[in-house]
Amino acid sequence: MRSGSNHPRPAVPAMMSQPSPTDPTAPGKHPAGADAPRNPRPIPAADHGLQPRVGGPAGHSHGGRAAGQGPPSGGAAGPGAYAAEDVHHSPMLVFYEVTRACDLVCQHCRACAQPAAHPNELDTAASRALLEQFTRFPKPPMVVFTGGDPFKREDVFDLVAYARQLGLTVAMTPSATPLVTSERLARLRDAGIHRLAVSLDGADAATHDAFRGVGGSFDRTLWIMAEARRLGLPQQVNTTITRFNAKQVDAMAELIAGYDITLWSVFFLVPVGRGLHEQRISAEEYEQVFEKLWQQSRRQRYGIKTTEAHHYRRFVLQRQGDPQAGPATAAGHPAGNDAGAAHAHRNQRAPLGISDGKGVFFVSHTGSIYPSGFMPITCGRFPADDVVSVYQDSPLLRQLRDPDQFHGKCGVCDYRFICGGSRARAYALTRDPLASEPDCIYMPPAWVAKLESVSC
Ligand code: SF4
Ligand code: SF4
Repeated sequence: MRSGSNHPRPAVPAMMSQPSPTDPTAPGKHPAGADAPRNPRPIPAADHGLQPRVGGPAGHSHGGRAAGQGPPSGGAAGPGAYAAEDVHHSPMLVFYEVTRACDLVCQHCRACAQPAAHPNELDTAASRALLEQFTRFPKPPMVVFTGGDPFKREDVFDLVAYARQLGLTVAMTPSATPLVTSERLARLRDAGIHRLAVSLDGADAATHDAFRGVGGSFDRTLWIMAEARRLGLPQQVNTTITRFNAKQVDAMAELIAGYDITLWSVFFLVPVGRGLHEQRISAEEYEQVFEKLWQQSRRQRYGIKTTEAHHYRRFVLQRQGDPQAGPATAAGHPAGNDAGAAHAHRNQRAPLGISDGKGVFFVSHTGSIYPSGFMPITCGRFPADDVVSVYQDSPLLRQLRDPDQFHGKCGVCDYRFICGGSRARAYALTRDPLASEPDCIYMPPAWVAKLESVSC
């Protein structure tokens, strides 16, 4: 049986159903000229250039997971406006892969980025038309300009400005290359960008640079973070957890605490693009990383969320925590104060249950429409297809929004409506987008009962 009535949703603390109208990431909340970060790693100008590739494992794509799966609310509809039931008609986040061009060569790149843009990349006029379609959702989403490297497009500032003119909220995920300069960051700020996301994949240069495959990437990333903070650009940090950095969770959490970030988005590897299976951590190691994140979430002022590891919500709920807890408010407890009221004075993030195709969707550089960047199943093609109609009516997207249709233990799990597992990882490993999350140790009681009934 996979009836919702037989397996009611788990009790969720009342505070989770009432997202705060306060959006700490709103432009203007981070004044320019704020105090310097506690652990700034400014690097001399001469060192800003990236070094040749270094050996070792390389990093994962930041494309499609950026400043986004974490902001507390939807876009033009206003902070706090997005509700769980809105997933059926409007995404909360749209990732627009403005290009697959990128000057880096991370071996785990989801996008398999190349130095040059694809000849069929949507041009300026098509990109503007796409942005116009986004405004037709009943609740227009936040748009994340991802890549590739958005800074490889000369018109990216114009597109940001146009999206803002349309009333959309925009975030961006630049690659850490020499294309990121103070002047360009300031232009982004002036164009009205809502948030910048940078990728940091290790607590030290050796780990991060090996991960990214480029010497100097670590120092450049920290320089970008310090500069964004100086300019008053709200920012989040994205980290991909693999077996090479899983032991550095605490060290990374402390390092980024010095940069006044809003959110730490901790991504768990999905083996797509150039991603490799062997860098995945085990399901048991997920729980160990979750424990570290949970402890850090009680100490740090910034919010912590996971991406493509929705079962962290289950982990937190099992500890009577609030998986929606966001950054501390201005009156919140200071970092390092592991207060008993771990979630007091914290803003609330997005509704629970957001996942691939469910509150999130993705438009590629050539207009292909996917449930997410890590789930390359084409559901439609812009401009031939209308993005609003595809999101609302695609049979696959509808299935992804209905946890009762999931297969295996996720389909009967008591957490399926707020977790549901990573559909992208399920697809990557089984080719069944509705299969169970491969990296979750939890055994739902209904699944155990089912197994027992089969074995009897
Ligand atoms: S920096 Fe470039 S190569 Fe590396 S993951 Fe991002 S898009 Fe891919
Ligand atoms: S079994 Fe599936 S739905 Fe349940 S907690 Fe694990 S990943 Fe989430």
